Amino acid sequence: MAATPELQHTVGKTAGFTGTALHTGEKVSLKLHPAPADHGIKFRRKDLQDEPTIDARIDNVKTVERATTIGEGTVRVHTVEHVLAALWAMDVDNAIVEMDANEPPIGDGSAQPYVDLIKKATITAQEEPRKFFDVREPMHVESKTGALLVLLPDDKFRISCTQAGPNNRFAQYLSTEITPAIFEREIAAARTFVHYEDVQPLMEKNLIKGGSLENAIVVRGEAVLSKEPLRFADEFVRHKILDVIGDLALVGRRIRGHVVALKPGHAVNAELARRLAREQAQRSALSVSRAIPRGDGGFDTDEVMQILPHRFPFLMVDRILTFESETKCVGVKTVTINEPFFQGHFPGHPVMPGVMQVEAMAQVASILLFKLAKTTSRIGYFMSADGVKFRKPVLPGDTIFIHAELTKSRGERLAKARCRCVVNDAIVSEAELMFTFLDK
Ligand SMILES: [Zn+2]
Repeated sequence: MAATPELQHTVGKTAGFTGTALHTGEKVSLKLHPAPADHGIKFRRKDLQDEPTIDARIDNVKTVERATTIGEGTVRVHTVEHVLAALWAMDVDNAIVEMDANEPPIGDGSAQPYVDLIKKATITAQEEPRKFFDVREPMHVESKTGALLVLLPDDKFRISCTQAGPNNRFAQYLSTEITPAIFEREIAAARTFVHYEDVQPLMEKNLIKGGSLENAIVVRGEAVLSKEPLRFADEFVRHKILDVIGDLALVGRRIRGHVVALKPGHAVNAELARRLAREQAQRSALSVSRAIPRGDGGFDTDEVMQILPHRFPFLMVDRILTFESETKCVGVKTVTINEPFFQGHFPGHPVMPGVMQVEAMAQVASILLFKLAKTTSRIGYFMSADGVKFRKPVLPGDTIFIHAELTKSRGERLAKARCRCVVNDAIVSEAELMFTFLDK
């Protein structure tokens, strides 16, 4: 298990194993190699000229029938989900997955061989911080076939999954946080299962040459056929969770959120991954500190100071970047080592006090309120703060993007705002603030 969950990890050394490819039935050997920070997971086709690599990213997903296939140009890698699930869940952010075929070994149809391989290769921390995707508001995707995935905000990565076969046979439910230890114990060994009606035509066309009861459970009506007995009474839902993890790994970031999945499949999983990647791209565009907008659509420091009575050292907003709507705006504060609070908080270890971040949120929210009320003759008093969370330290040199959204206003006197401070794409603090207005 990774001792430092905030840092990126790779494998300590190269390790490999050999097995059978599901679709071609041929022998394939797979090796995991260490890779530098920010490299991500890449597949390398050692059997092709120039040994091309394919990034395990959602943009590279080509097909999602029965398994997930990724590709770049004409090069393809099939059935990537089990090895990706194992790497992601076992905390490996960066690695090269080298293969001498177009598909990893199917093993026993579970992710267990990959967990064993990762442990053989060992897991080692790198110096760069990990990238997270924080779920901020509920999102969902669904398919015509009845699959539904809902993603909810959460401090941890959790999956609650319901699986049901035809006529709701083998209906199973499991809800769990995903950590390396839990994955290894509860999820990794769950094997692929297929319905006889679905695989029979494939067997006839000879499209799954490597498929056998040694690497899949076949369900035929009420009967469960496999070489060994079920490993868990609810093995099917556990394998569904495994596949959700493998497909969401294509987002390329650690997810802090709760996935609620009903009858998930590769198509809907990939759709959710695509949505997350798109949302992440928008967030990154908003918080690129190299191009902080000025002028149009926001307030410069002068305009901010006309509204806010605060002055040095208590002015916690440099500029309002945009008013996204009547009720939403984003301010920015560049934190320098010259901030007076760093002298005492703490000597030799400067960290911006959390209360100053709450103050910054309150100032941005009150600018929003003043703009809405179109008056500066009243002053907003900060009454309460709920759900305050400090997630990460803010250090000298950081640029804080302060997001405020008005969620409720009662009459002329009371207002509520949901606020968050974001540094380098990650939420560092958040709170729900309540204000009252008094005449100046
Ligand atoms: Zn699977």
